[in-house]
Amino acid sequence: LDEGLRCIGCGALIQTTDKTAAGYTPMSALIKGLENGEVLDQRCFRLRNYNEIQPVSLTDDDFRRMLTQISATDSLVVYVVDVFDFSGSLIPGLHRFVGDNPILLVGNKIDILPKSLKQSKIKDWIRQQANIAGLRPMDIALTSGKSGADVPALLALIEKYRKGRSVYVVGVTNVGKSTLINQIIKYVTGEKKDVITTSRFPGTTLDRIEIPFDDETFIIDTPGIIHQDQIAHYLTAQDLKYVAPQKEIKPRTYQLNDEQSLFFGALARFDYIQGPRTGITTYFENNLMIHRTKSENADAFYAKHAGELLAPPTTENLASLPKLVRHEYKITEKSDLVIDGLGWITVPANVVIAGWAPEGVSVLIRKAMI
Ligand code: GDP
Repeated sequence: LDEGLRCIGCGALIQTTDKTAAGYTPMSALIKGLENGEVLDQRCFRLRNYNEIQPVSLTDDDFRRMLTQISATDSLVVYVVDVFDFSGSLIPGLHRFVGDNPILLVGNKIDILPKSLKQSKIKDWIRQQANIAGLRPMDIALTSGKSGADVPALLALIEKYRKGRSVYVVGVTNVGKSTLINQIIKYVTGEKKDVITTSRFPGTTLDRIEIPFDDETFIIDTPGIIHQDQIAHYLTAQDLKYVAPQKEIKPRTYQLNDEQSLFFGALARFDYIQGPRTGITTYFENNLMIHRTKSENADAFYAKHAGELLAPPTTENLASLPKLVRHEYKITEKSDLVIDGLGWITVPANVVIAGWAPEGVSVLIRKAMI
Protein backbone atom coordinates (compact mmCIF):
# COMPACT_ATOMS: atom_id res chain seq x y z
CA LEU A 1 0.00 0.00 0.00
CA ASP A 2 1.23 3.44 -0.90
CA GLU A 3 2.06 5.08 2.42
CA GLY A 4 1.03 8.50 1.27
CA LEU A 5 -2.43 7.55 0.00
CA ARG A 6 -5.07 9.72 1.61
CA CYS A 7 -8.84 9.92 1.50
CA ILE A 8 -9.88 12.76 -0.78
CA GLY A 9 -12.81 13.48 1.56
CA CYS A 10 -11.19 13.85 4.96
CA GLY A 11 -7.48 13.46 4.35
CA ALA A 12 -7.14 10.39 6.60
CA LEU A 13 -4.39 7.95 5.70
CA ILE A 14 -6.05 5.07 3.82
CA GLN A 15 -5.76 1.66 5.54
CA THR A 16 -7.50 -1.69 5.02
CA THR A 17 -7.05 -3.39 8.38
CA ASP A 18 -8.85 -1.58 11.22
CA LYS A 19 -12.56 -1.08 10.57
CA THR A 20 -13.03 1.18 13.55
CA ALA A 21 -10.16 3.54 12.79
CA ALA A 22 -9.98 6.50 10.44
CA GLY A 23 -9.18 5.88 6.80
CA TYR A 24 -10.57 2.35 6.71
CA THR A 25 -11.36 1.20 3.20
CA PRO A 26 -12.24 -2.38 2.20
CA MET A 27 -9.62 -3.70 -0.25
CA SER A 28 -12.19 -4.15 -3.04
CA ALA A 29 -13.32 -0.54 -2.68
CA LEU A 30 -9.72 0.64 -2.62
CA ILE A 31 -9.01 -1.13 -5.93
CA LYS A 32 -12.12 0.38 -7.48
CA GLY A 33 -11.19 3.80 -6.12
CA LEU A 34 -7.68 3.57 -7.57
CA GLU A 35 -9.16 2.64 -10.95
CA ASN A 36 -11.42 5.70 -10.84
CA GLY A 37 -8.65 7.88 -9.44
CA GLU A 38 -10.85 8.81 -6.47
CA VAL A 39 -10.05 7.10 -3.18
CA LEU A 40 -12.46 7.70 -0.31
CA ASP A 41 -12.42 5.92 3.01
CA GLN A 42 -15.57 4.02 3.93
CA ARG A 43 -16.96 6.76 6.11
CA CYS A 44 -16.59 9.45 3.47
CA PHE A 45 -17.89 7.07 0.82
CA ARG A 46 -21.08 6.48 2.78
CA LEU A 47 -21.40 10.13 3.58
CA ARG A 48 -21.06 11.09 -0.03
CA ASN A 49 -23.20 8.40 -1.56
CA TYR A 50 -25.85 7.78 1.04
CA ASN A 51 -25.78 11.00 3.08
CA GLU A 52 -25.15 8.76 6.02
CA ILE A 53 -23.05 9.59 9.05
CA GLN A 54 -21.12 6.76 10.70
CA PRO A 55 -20.91 6.89 14.46
CA VAL A 56 -17.44 7.07 15.99
CA SER A 57 -16.48 5.78 19.41
CA LEU A 58 -15.29 8.39 21.85
CA THR A 59 -13.92 8.83 25.35
CA ASP A 60 -14.81 11.47 27.95
CA ASP A 61 -11.36 12.99 27.55
CA ASP A 62 -11.76 13.32 23.81
CA PHE A 63 -15.17 14.83 24.28
CA ARG A 64 -13.92 17.38 26.81
CA ARG A 65 -11.00 18.29 24.56
CA MET A 66 -13.41 18.82 21.69
CA LEU A 67 -15.62 21.13 23.77
CA THR A 68 -12.57 23.07 24.93
CA GLN A 69 -11.60 23.58 21.31
CA ILE A 70 -15.05 24.94 20.55
CA SER A 71 -14.80 27.40 23.44
CA ALA A 72 -11.59 28.76 21.93
CA THR A 73 -13.38 29.69 18.69
CA ASP A 74 -15.67 32.60 17.91
CA SER A 75 -18.75 30.72 16.79
CA LEU A 76 -22.43 30.04 17.27
CA VAL A 77 -23.20 26.87 19.25
CA VAL A 78 -26.34 25.01 18.21
CA TYR A 79 -27.29 22.71 21.08
CA VAL A 80 -29.76 19.97 20.17
CA VAL A 81 -31.94 18.56 22.97
CA ASP A 82 -34.80 16.07 23.05
CA VAL A 83 -37.99 17.88 24.11
CA PHE A 84 -39.16 14.63 25.64
CA ASP A 85 -36.02 14.11 27.74
CA PHE A 86 -34.40 17.36 28.78
CA SER A 87 -32.32 16.04 31.69
CA GLY A 88 -31.18 13.15 29.52
CA SER A 89 -30.06 15.72 26.93
CA LEU A 90 -27.77 17.70 29.22
CA ILE A 91 -24.07 17.93 28.42
CA PRO A 92 -22.33 18.23 31.78
CA GLY A 93 -20.47 21.52 32.08
CA LEU A 94 -21.57 22.78 28.67
CA HIS A 95 -22.01 26.34 29.97
CA ARG A 96 -18.32 26.38 30.93
CA PHE A 97 -17.21 25.02 27.60
CA VAL A 98 -19.14 27.26 25.27
CA GLY A 99 -17.41 30.25 26.88
CA ASP A 100 -18.79 33.52 25.55
CA ASN A 101 -20.21 31.95 22.42
CA PRO A 102 -23.95 32.38 21.93
CA ILE A 103 -26.17 29.30 22.09
CA LEU A 104 -29.16 28.51 19.92
CA LEU A 105 -31.11 25.77 21.66
CA VAL A 106 -32.93 23.34 19.38
CA GLY A 107 -35.75 21.34 20.99
CA ASN A 108 -35.99 18.30 18.72
CA LYS A 109 -38.58 15.49 18.31
CA ILE A 110 -41.41 18.01 18.59
CA ASP A 111 -43.61 15.64 16.57
CA ILE A 112 -43.97 13.42 19.66
CA LEU A 113 -45.75 16.01 21.78
CA PRO A 114 -49.54 16.35 21.56
CA LYS A 115 -50.64 19.02 19.07
CA SER A 116 -52.76 20.59 21.81
CA LEU A 117 -49.56 21.66 23.54
CA LYS A 118 -48.73 25.26 22.65
CA GLN A 119 -45.25 25.84 21.21
CA SER A 120 -44.79 28.88 23.44
CA LYS A 121 -45.31 26.70 26.52
CA ILE A 122 -42.79 24.16 25.29
CA LYS A 123 -40.26 26.94 24.74
CA ASP A 124 -40.88 28.39 28.20
CA TRP A 125 -40.28 24.96 29.73
CA ILE A 126 -37.08 24.40 27.76
CA ARG A 127 -35.80 27.87 28.63
CA GLN A 128 -36.51 27.34 32.31
CA GLN A 129 -34.71 23.97 32.30
CA ALA A 130 -31.79 25.49 30.39
CA ASN A 131 -31.50 28.30 32.95
CA ILE A 132 -31.42 25.77 35.78
CA ALA A 133 -28.53 24.10 33.94
CA GLY A 134 -26.72 27.45 33.78
CA LEU A 135 -27.37 28.11 30.09
CA ARG A 136 -28.70 31.37 28.65
CA PRO A 137 -29.70 30.55 25.07
CA MET A 138 -30.24 33.45 22.66
CA ASP A 139 -33.25 31.72 21.21
CA ILE A 140 -35.06 28.39 21.09
CA ALA A 141 -36.11 26.58 17.92
CA LEU A 142 -38.45 23.60 17.87
CA THR A 143 -37.85 20.96 15.22
CA SER A 144 -38.74 17.52 14.08
CA GLY A 145 -35.61 16.28 12.40
CA LYS A 146 -37.41 13.27 10.98
CA SER A 147 -39.12 14.94 8.07
CA GLY A 148 -36.75 17.73 7.19
CA ALA A 149 -39.64 20.17 6.84
CA ASP A 150 -38.24 22.33 9.64
CA VAL A 151 -34.74 22.54 8.14
CA PRO A 152 -35.17 25.76 6.08
CA ALA A 153 -36.57 27.67 9.08
CA LEU A 154 -33.80 26.35 11.31
CA LEU A 155 -31.12 27.36 8.80
CA ALA A 156 -32.69 30.83 8.56
CA LEU A 157 -32.52 31.18 12.35
CA ILE A 158 -28.90 29.97 12.35
CA GLU A 159 -28.11 32.52 9.64
CA LYS A 160 -29.64 35.26 11.80
CA TYR A 161 -27.53 34.46 14.86
CA ARG A 162 -24.25 33.29 13.41
CA LYS A 163 -23.33 36.75 12.09
CA GLY A 164 -20.76 35.42 9.66
CA ARG A 165 -19.28 32.92 12.11
CA SER A 166 -19.00 29.14 11.93
CA VAL A 167 -21.58 27.01 13.70
CA TYR A 168 -20.90 24.01 15.97
CA VAL A 169 -23.78 21.57 16.41
CA VAL A 170 -23.53 19.71 19.74
CA GLY A 171 -25.73 17.21 21.56
CA VAL A 172 -25.65 13.91 23.47
CA THR A 173 -26.57 10.68 21.67
CA ASN A 174 -30.23 9.77 21.08
CA VAL A 175 -31.52 13.33 20.83
CA GLY A 176 -31.85 12.91 17.05
CA LYS A 177 -28.85 15.02 16.09
CA SER A 178 -27.64 12.69 13.30
CA THR A 179 -31.11 12.53 11.79
CA LEU A 180 -31.33 16.32 11.85
CA ILE A 181 -27.84 16.78 10.40
CA ASN A 182 -28.60 14.27 7.66
CA GLN A 183 -31.68 16.33 6.77
CA ILE A 184 -29.55 19.48 6.69
CA ILE A 185 -27.02 17.73 4.44
CA LYS A 186 -29.81 16.56 2.16
CA TYR A 187 -31.20 20.07 1.95
CA VAL A 188 -27.83 21.70 1.35
CA THR A 189 -26.60 19.10 -1.14
CA GLY A 190 -29.90 19.45 -2.98
CA GLU A 191 -28.71 22.91 -3.85
CA LYS A 192 -25.05 22.20 -4.60
CA LYS A 193 -22.97 19.08 -5.09
CA ASP A 194 -20.00 17.79 -3.09
CA VAL A 195 -20.17 20.19 -0.22
CA ILE A 196 -19.41 17.93 2.72
CA THR A 197 -15.91 17.57 4.14
CA THR A 198 -14.66 15.86 7.27
CA SER A 199 -11.64 16.47 9.45
CA ARG A 200 -10.28 15.69 12.91
CA PHE A 201 -10.47 17.69 16.08
CA PRO A 202 -6.75 18.12 16.80
CA GLY A 203 -5.49 15.85 19.59
CA THR A 204 -8.58 13.64 19.61
CA THR A 205 -9.92 10.65 17.72
CA LEU A 206 -13.06 12.62 16.98
CA ASP A 207 -14.18 13.43 13.50
CA ARG A 208 -16.17 16.44 12.57
CA ILE A 209 -18.27 16.93 9.51
CA GLU A 210 -18.14 20.32 7.90
CA ILE A 211 -20.83 21.66 5.64
CA PRO A 212 -19.61 24.92 4.13
CA PHE A 213 -21.73 28.06 4.23
CA ASP A 214 -19.16 29.89 2.13
CA ASP A 215 -15.38 29.86 1.60
CA GLU A 216 -14.54 30.55 5.23
CA THR A 217 -17.36 29.37 7.48
CA PHE A 218 -18.96 26.00 8.12
CA ILE A 219 -21.71 24.24 9.96
CA ILE A 220 -19.78 21.64 11.93
CA ASP A 221 -21.37 18.47 13.28
CA THR A 222 -19.64 17.11 16.40
CA PRO A 223 -19.85 13.60 17.85
CA GLY A 224 -22.35 13.15 20.67
CA ILE A 225 -21.43 11.68 24.01
CA ILE A 226 -23.54 9.04 25.76
CA HIS A 227 -25.65 10.30 28.66
CA GLN A 228 -25.98 7.31 31.01
CA ASP A 229 -29.13 8.53 32.73
CA GLN A 230 -31.28 8.16 29.63
CA ILE A 231 -33.95 5.54 29.97
CA ALA A 232 -32.88 4.26 26.54
CA HIS A 233 -29.69 2.83 28.06
CA TYR A 234 -31.60 0.47 30.33
CA LEU A 235 -33.55 -1.10 27.51
CA THR A 236 -32.96 -3.32 24.53
CA ALA A 237 -33.88 -2.01 21.08
CA GLN A 238 -36.94 -4.27 21.18
CA ASP A 239 -38.18 -2.91 24.52
CA LEU A 240 -37.41 0.64 23.50
CA LYS A 241 -40.12 0.46 20.84
CA TYR A 242 -42.73 0.49 23.58
CA VAL A 243 -41.13 3.38 25.39
CA ALA A 244 -39.66 5.92 22.96
CA PRO A 245 -42.57 7.51 21.11
CA GLN A 246 -42.27 7.53 17.34
CA LYS A 247 -45.59 9.31 16.78
CA GLU A 248 -47.70 11.94 18.46
CA ILE A 249 -48.64 10.88 21.97
CA LYS A 250 -52.33 10.32 22.61
CA PRO A 251 -53.31 11.20 26.18
CA ARG A 252 -54.93 8.43 28.23
CA THR A 253 -57.15 9.37 31.19
CA TYR A 254 -57.91 7.23 34.26
CA GLN A 255 -60.53 7.93 36.93
CA LEU A 256 -58.59 7.24 40.12
CA ASN A 257 -59.48 7.00 43.78
CA ASP A 258 -56.89 7.74 46.39
CA GLU A 259 -54.70 4.77 47.32
CA GLN A 260 -54.68 3.54 43.74
CA SER A 261 -51.54 3.13 41.62
CA LEU A 262 -50.66 2.93 37.95
CA PHE A 263 -47.78 0.91 36.51
CA PHE A 264 -46.14 1.90 33.24
CA GLY A 265 -44.74 -1.40 32.08
CA ALA A 266 -42.22 -2.32 34.77
CA LEU A 267 -40.44 1.00 34.25
CA ALA A 268 -42.37 3.43 36.36
CA ARG A 269 -45.19 3.71 38.86
CA PHE A 270 -47.58 6.43 39.96
CA ASP A 271 -49.27 6.45 43.39
CA TYR A 272 -52.35 8.58 44.01
CA ILE A 273 -51.87 9.00 47.74
CA GLN A 274 -54.37 11.63 48.83
CA GLY A 275 -57.20 13.59 47.14
CA PRO A 276 -60.76 13.18 45.83
CA ARG A 277 -61.72 10.78 43.04
CA THR A 278 -60.39 12.49 39.92
CA GLY A 279 -59.30 12.15 36.30
CA ILE A 280 -55.55 11.61 35.90
CA THR A 281 -54.22 12.04 32.37
CA THR A 282 -51.09 10.20 31.26
CA TYR A 283 -48.80 10.97 28.29
CA PHE A 284 -46.68 7.97 27.35
CA GLU A 285 -45.84 5.97 24.24
CA ASN A 286 -49.21 4.88 22.86
CA ASN A 287 -48.36 1.17 23.07
CA LEU A 288 -46.90 1.21 26.57
CA MET A 289 -49.16 -0.91 28.81
CA ILE A 290 -50.60 0.88 31.82
CA HIS A 291 -51.98 -1.20 34.73
CA ARG A 292 -54.08 -0.01 37.64
CA THR A 293 -53.85 -1.63 41.11
CA LYS A 294 -54.59 -0.78 44.71
CA SER A 295 -51.54 0.91 46.20
CA GLU A 296 -51.48 -1.47 49.15
CA ASN A 297 -51.02 -4.40 46.73
CA ALA A 298 -48.66 -2.59 44.36
CA ASP A 299 -45.33 -3.87 45.74
CA ALA A 300 -46.50 -7.47 45.67
CA PHE A 301 -48.06 -6.97 42.22
CA TYR A 302 -44.76 -5.63 40.89
CA ALA A 303 -42.73 -8.44 42.47
CA LYS A 304 -45.03 -11.02 40.89
CA HIS A 305 -45.64 -9.55 37.43
CA ALA A 306 -42.63 -7.39 36.50
CA GLY A 307 -41.13 -8.67 33.25
CA GLU A 308 -44.34 -10.39 32.11
CA LEU A 309 -47.67 -8.62 32.64
CA LEU A 310 -45.67 -5.51 33.48
CA ALA A 311 -43.27 -5.01 30.56
CA PRO A 312 -40.99 -3.66 29.22
CA PRO A 313 -38.44 -4.63 30.22
CA THR A 314 -39.15 -8.30 29.69
CA THR A 315 -37.93 -10.87 32.24
CA GLU A 316 -34.54 -11.52 30.61
CA ASN A 317 -33.66 -7.81 30.80
CA LEU A 318 -35.26 -6.98 34.11
CA ALA A 319 -32.08 -7.60 36.10
CA SER A 320 -30.25 -4.77 34.34
CA LEU A 321 -32.98 -2.26 35.21
CA PRO A 322 -31.98 -0.13 38.23
CA LYS A 323 -34.45 -0.41 41.10
CA LEU A 324 -37.41 1.99 41.10
CA VAL A 325 -36.95 4.98 43.40
CA ARG A 326 -39.93 6.76 44.97
CA HIS A 327 -40.39 10.55 44.84
CA GLU A 328 -43.32 11.99 46.84
CA TYR A 329 -44.92 15.40 46.20
CA LYS A 330 -47.62 17.59 47.73
CA ILE A 331 -49.23 19.35 44.76
CA THR A 332 -50.73 22.84 45.17
CA GLU A 333 -51.54 23.73 41.53
CA LYS A 334 -52.44 21.65 38.47
CA SER A 335 -49.11 20.01 37.62
CA ASP A 336 -47.27 17.48 35.50
CA LEU A 337 -45.21 14.76 37.14
CA VAL A 338 -42.47 14.31 34.54
CA ILE A 339 -40.42 11.13 34.21
CA ASP A 340 -37.75 12.26 31.80
CA GLY A 341 -37.57 10.28 28.58
CA LEU A 342 -40.62 8.23 29.48
CA GLY A 343 -43.61 10.57 29.77
CA TRP A 344 -45.66 12.61 32.19
CA ILE A 345 -48.83 12.50 34.28
CA THR A 346 -51.10 15.51 34.79
CA VAL A 347 -52.67 15.85 38.23
CA PRO A 348 -55.07 18.47 39.69
CA ALA A 349 -54.29 20.88 42.55
CA ASN A 350 -54.33 19.84 46.20
CA VAL A 351 -53.35 16.18 45.96
CA VAL A 352 -50.48 14.08 47.29
CA ILE A 353 -48.77 11.79 44.81
CA ALA A 354 -45.61 9.74 44.30
CA GLY A 355 -43.73 8.89 41.13
CA TRP A 356 -41.38 5.91 40.88
CA ALA A 357 -38.64 5.70 38.24
CA PRO A 358 -35.41 3.74 37.74
CA GLU A 359 -32.60 5.13 39.86
CA GLY A 360 -30.75 7.83 37.88
CA VAL A 361 -33.75 8.82 35.75
CA SER A 362 -35.02 12.31 36.65
CA VAL A 363 -38.46 12.79 38.12
CA LEU A 364 -39.73 16.35 38.48
CA ILE A 365 -42.81 18.51 38.87
CA ARG A 366 -43.72 21.33 36.53
CA LYS A 367 -46.78 23.53 36.07
CA ALA A 368 -49.26 21.60 33.87
CA MET A 369 -48.47 22.24 30.20
CA ILE A 370 -51.96 21.38 28.91
P1 GDP B 1 -28.33 10.97 17.74
O1 GDP B 1 -27.75 9.87 18.57
O2 GDP B 1 -28.58 12.19 18.54
O3 GDP B 1 -27.56 11.24 16.53
O4 GDP B 1 -29.80 10.47 17.37
P2 GDP B 1 -30.38 9.72 16.08
O5 GDP B 1 -30.51 10.67 14.96
O6 GDP B 1 -29.63 8.47 15.86
O7 GDP B 1 -31.86 9.39 16.64
C1 GDP B 1 -32.07 8.69 17.84
C2 GDP B 1 -33.47 8.09 17.84
O8 GDP B 1 -34.45 9.12 17.84
C3 GDP B 1 -33.79 7.22 16.63
O9 GDP B 1 -34.58 6.13 17.06
C4 GDP B 1 -34.61 8.13 15.73
O10 GDP B 1 -35.52 7.41 14.94
C5 GDP B 1 -35.33 9.01 16.73
N1 GDP B 1 -35.57 10.35 16.18
C6 GDP B 1 -34.65 11.17 15.62
N2 GDP B 1 -35.20 12.34 15.26
C7 GDP B 1 -36.51 12.27 15.61
C8 GDP B 1 -37.63 13.18 15.51
O11 GDP B 1 -37.54 14.32 15.03
N3 GDP B 1 -38.83 12.71 15.99
C9 GDP B 1 -38.97 11.48 16.54
N4 GDP B 1 -40.19 11.12 16.97
N5 GDP B 1 -37.94 10.62 16.66
C10 GDP B 1 -36.73 11.00 16.20
